[in-house]
Parts: sequence; C-alpha cells; structure tokens
Amino acid sequence: DKTVEVHDYDVVVIGAGGAGLRAAIEARAQGKRTAIISKSLFGKAHTVMAEGGCAAAMGNANPNDNWRVHFGDTMRGGKFLNNWRMAELHAKEAPQRVWEMETYGALFDRTKDGKISQRNFGGHTYPRLAHVGDRTGLELIRTLQQKIVSLQQEDFKATGDYEANIRVFHETTITDLFKADGAIAGCFGYFRSTGTFVRFNAPAIVLATGGVGKSYSVTSNSWEYTGDGHALALRAGATLINMEFLQFHPTGMVWPPSVKGILVTESVRGDGGVLRNSDGKRFMFDYIADVFKDLYATTEEEADRWYTDADNNRRPPELLPRDEVARAINSEVKAGRGTPHGGVYLDVSTRLKPEEILKRLPSMHHQFKELADVDITKEPMEVGPTCHYVMGGVEVDPDTGMSRVPGLFAAGECSGGMHGSNRLGGNSLSDLLVFGRRCGAGASEYVDGLAGRRPAVVETDAAAAVDRALLPFTTAAEGGENPFVVHLELQKTMHELVGIIRKADEMEMALKKLEDIATRTRTVAVQGDRKFNPNWHLALDLRNMLLVSMCVAKAALERQESRGGHTRDDFPVMDADWRHVLLVLSALGEDNVEMVRKEQIPMRPDLLDIFEMDELKKYFTGEELGGHRADQG
Ligand code: FAD
Repeated sequence: DKTVEVHDYDVVVIGAGGAGLRAAIEARAQGKRTAIISKSLFGKAHTVMAEGGCAAAMGNANPNDNWRVHFGDTMRGGKFLNNWRMAELHAKEAPQRVWEMETYGALFDRTKDGKISQRNFGGHTYPRLAHVGDRTGLELIRTLQQKIVSLQQEDFKATGDYEANIRVFHETTITDLFKADGAIAGCFGYFRSTGTFVRFNAPAIVLATGGVGKSYSVTSNSWEYTGDGHALALRAGATLINMEFLQFHPTGMVWPPSVKGILVTESVRGDGGVLRNSDGKRFMFDYIADVFKDLYATTEEEADRWYTDADNNRRPPELLPRDEVARAINSEVKAGRGTPHGGVYLDVSTRLKPEEILKRLPSMHHQFKELADVDITKEPMEVGPTCHYVMGGVEVDPDTGMSRVPGLFAAGECSGGMHGSNRLGGNSLSDLLVFGRRCGAGASEYVDGLAGRRPAVVETDAAAAVDRALLPFTTAAEGGENPFVVHLELQKTMHELVGIIRKADEMEMALKKLEDIATRTRTVAVQGDRKFNPNWHLALDLRNMLLVSMCVAKAALERQESRGGHTRDDFPVMDADWRHVLLVLSALGEDNVEMVRKEQIPMRPDLLDIFEMDELKKYFTGEELGGHRADQG
C-alpha cells in the first residue's frame, strides 16, 4: 500500500525535544501554522534525560557572573573553535529564556532568598546551572509541553479547533526532505505504529532531531539518537561542521554490562564528589593541562576549600572541562589503575551526609541502587567515559538558524558551531531554548518573505521517497542481511577505531570498514509487515548512522591535532594553525560524503577584549593577534 496522507503547514518542526518545542512555540507565536513531529512519544524526547541543569549567567548565586564571563567560559571550553557569534547570543539570551520558562510554569529549585538556585558545573567560573534537583530536563519538557497545550486551548477558544495552529504528530519518523527550485518544499515519513506514509508540504522545516550516539557501542544516548537530522540535512544539500568533535562524558556507569554507558551526572562532582583510582589516589591533580594551570587548585586542601569559599580558592580539577576529565580517566585505566570493571571510583559518600545526597542527587541514588545494587550514600560508584554529545552538526546562520538550503533550519544538538570542540555541561539546555526560539523566529520570517510563493513538492520525488522507504522489504526477497547485525558492526567500528583516543591508521581502517558497511546497508532486508516493525525502523535509521559516521571518521582523520572532543594519539597537542579551520562536510551521492576546509570568521575585537592577551596567545597564532589592541600594550 503506497497511500500517503498529506498535510499542509507553514512551518514543520522535526523533533519534540527542548529545541523543537521552543521553536514551535515561537513559530506559532508569529502566527504560523506549525506541526511538531517526533519519532518517540510526545514528552519522551531525549531532553527529558538532562539532569544537571541549564546554564545562564543570572548571577543569583554569585553577583559577579554576567554574559561576558559565560561567553568566556564557553569559548574556553570549546577551545576557541566555537562560532563566537552563537556563543555571544547564547550567553546574552540564556537568562531571559530561563526566566521565560518560569512564566510558562517551570518550578526551579530556589536559593534561600527565593531566587532561582544555580549550581556549579565543570568549566563554569560561577555557579550557573538553573536546576530542578537532578531532573532539570524533565521539568523543561513538562513546561514546554504545558505551554503548547495552553496555546492549543487559546486556539480552541478562537477557532473551535485545538489543532488549528499547532499540531503534534508523535511516533512519526521523517525519512526524506523535499526541495523544489533549490528551496525546501516539504518532508516525508511514516507512522511507526501503522507503518503508513505521511507527507508534509511546508516551505520551512526546522530540524531539531538531537544527536548521533547510537553509532557507538557505549553511549548515554537514547534510541532516538541516530543522527537523522544530520543526515537529512546532508542529503538536502546542507553542510555539517565540527563533526570530528564528539563529547565522551567522563562518567558513565561501567557495570553491570546491560547498563554500561548510562550517564552519571556531572552534578555528583559539582556537589563535591571526587575521582580516585584503585590506589585511592585523587588523580585529577596530575592532569591539569598548561592552559588551565592558573584556574584549578593544585592541592586537595585548596580544592576542598573552594566548595565553601569559591572567591578565594581555585576550583577542584574534578571540575575541569569534560574532555580533560574523560582523557584522564582513560589514561588511569590504561595504566592499570582502574577498578575491577574497568572504570575509576567516583565517591560522594565520604564527602556529603546521606540526607544531603538523597536531597541533591535523588535520581543517581535510585539509578545505582536499582541498576547496580550500589548505595551511593555508603560506597563509591564505578565510572568511565561514555559517548554523550555531538558538538558537530548542521552549519547554520547564527542569528536565524538557517542552513545553506533556503527554508531549512536547525537548532539544538543537531546544529553545529555553538560549542566548538567541546560543550560545557549545562550549555545544551540553554542552547535549546536560545536557538530553538531563534529558529522558530527565523523560519517564520522566511515564510513571510516568500509572500505566498511556496515551492511545490515534485511528485516524482515524492514517489521516490516511498520506494526508498520500502526498499528493505523488497531486498528481503533477494536475501539481504539483518540490519541489527550491520548496526552492531558499525557501532563496534566507531567505538574501537574512531573513539576517545584516535590514530591515523585506525581511522583509515574505519573508513574502509564503513565503505563495506555502506554496501551491506544498501541491501539490508527486513521481514514481517509494516506495523511497528523495529527491524524496518532500524534499516532506515542505519542509512543515517552510516552517513554521520563517515563524517566523523573523515573529519577526525583530517584534523591533525588534539582539541576538545578530538584526541589524536599521533598529534597529541593543540595546534593554533588548526583553530581557525573548519572541516565542512557535504553529501556525495546517497551514502558518501566529501569534505573541504573553510576559514573561521575572525572574532569581533570587542569580544576578543573580554580575554587577557596571555590567554589568547595559548590559542591564537601571532598573526591572528598581531593587529589586536592588547598585543600592543
Ligand atoms: P532531543 O531532546 O533529543 O529531541 C530530539 C527529538 O527529535 C525527539 O523528539 C525525537 O523523537 C525526534 N526525532 C529524531 N529523529 C527524528 C526523525 N527522523 N523524525 C521525527 N522525529 C525525530 N545538557 C545540559 O545542558 N544539561 C544537562 O544537565 C544535561 N544532562 C544530560 C544527561 C543525559 C543522560 C544526556 C544523555 C544528555 C544530557 N544533556 C544535558 C544534553 C542534552 O540533554 C541534549 O543535548 C539535549 O536535550 C538535546 O535536545 P534537542 O532538543 O536537540 O533534542
């Protein structure tokens, strides 16, 4: 049955996480008929899993905080490879977006004097993460959904139809985007439960599909993270940047095997937890890189004093940016100082009273008790790195979120640039709100600019999308492979050969294997019918994971330095000549990619002024700084 249900909208938002919902709210506010599509159930997006909080320089916990300090921390965290305009907008607008969430009904934890409480996190100079215990993402999604329901109630009052201006299509997976005359015309997908097809005619599409972690064997990411938005963008002619930068979160569970990779929130360290190796040594003091030497405590005494007197002491090295901590743990385990299950110890039991742990980290207590039979109020956790976040994503205009393809926008984890080579914890939830809103506004403005002249989907493209989606059933008759087998091979390849520490020969091998996996992916076969058929879903997702993995491997092989979430065993240091280079990827046919180098736009002088010259010299070439005022004085 090739029947396709057809809908018409002004703006279609693909993804119902924080970025997608905030974009949809904005588009609806700008008077656009908006559809929200999500492949999971509404309310189940990955954003729900965010634990620690949402970074915003509100200055509630320390009045010295402001957007400049947040901007500085973000650039430092990303090793100055970030799109500085995005980092600027993010730092400036995050506080407004958090306060706005309160007006939508979010209930953040409070300081004693009734302000929104803010907690410490790695790489942030001041306590900056607005939070709700360790369940911040859940509250964010709950609030955004509630806002959408309230908008639907307003629409009902005005029109008699709840879905007049904003409608949610959940358990619906988008597999193709359509263009006409070079601009977006619509998209195509299937309803997961029935397997039947659906098409949306729309001149503006916002991609908010999240990350790519399911290409790796050990990940904190949920099942949805198959890089769909990344791949859809590529196939539509958009470009991806920063794909070599993947964040391996330092603390995932390592035991038991069934839960390996599940996240242990950074709040454990933010609230006083320390890392020790099997000799009982607090090893992070041995791993403070030169660029961070002045900012982090060098003795346990100073580090401990910081928790009660942050103004007069330097931060504990457990709170270095994530890439630094993940590498340190990796080195300790490799040197034979790991735990029995191949991690290190993270201990909060000797640092906080049990009642304090239960109050601040209730989900972590529950998670370890239920999944590993470990009581974190009494004993340490065993933790190790897990693939957590992709810094890379769709190359967009910082102000509007539009990609290279007219009408195609991207926000949240599937967009690139904002976090440079490494994201600071807490900077994603704020990114979703800031750029979700901007994308919704950008898409609305774009639609207005068309003045009714909308590109129409080309019918032969629509028919080809149906055939592409049905291909794994057709292939079954020819005896193709099971997609689960090919997926496991892909995950193993990426985990072992393009993982946390990378080498040229291993990545070359990975690229060869990916070519082979591409051939096998083309002919994967599925049995059964189209009603909720996980094999079929995976067969279609696999194409996306493959394309994204090629981007990661190609860019990682090309970048001959170590920076943020990209560590080369054969090029172990950061190289200023690479800081201003972006690796830009575009699709080459159905399942291959090509890459070009592009120069970063130099940072605006008033933003450069935020930093000390001595610090800039650690990252920039002399030539880049030559004309800058601070160099002269
Ligand atoms: P998501 O919330 O993942 O939403 C993606 C949406 O796209 C989903 O609705 C999905 O169904 C949909 N989708 C995907 N593909 C398709 C398709 N083909 N068709 C239709 N729909 C599709 N960040 C912080 O700032 N602070 C934290 O404390 C924090 N804690 C975290 C804890 C964990 C365990 C993890 C894994 C991440 C954490 N992060 C945190 C990161 C942060 O949660 C994510 O980066 C962020 O939620 C991504 O939001 P998003 O809106 O971009 O995508």
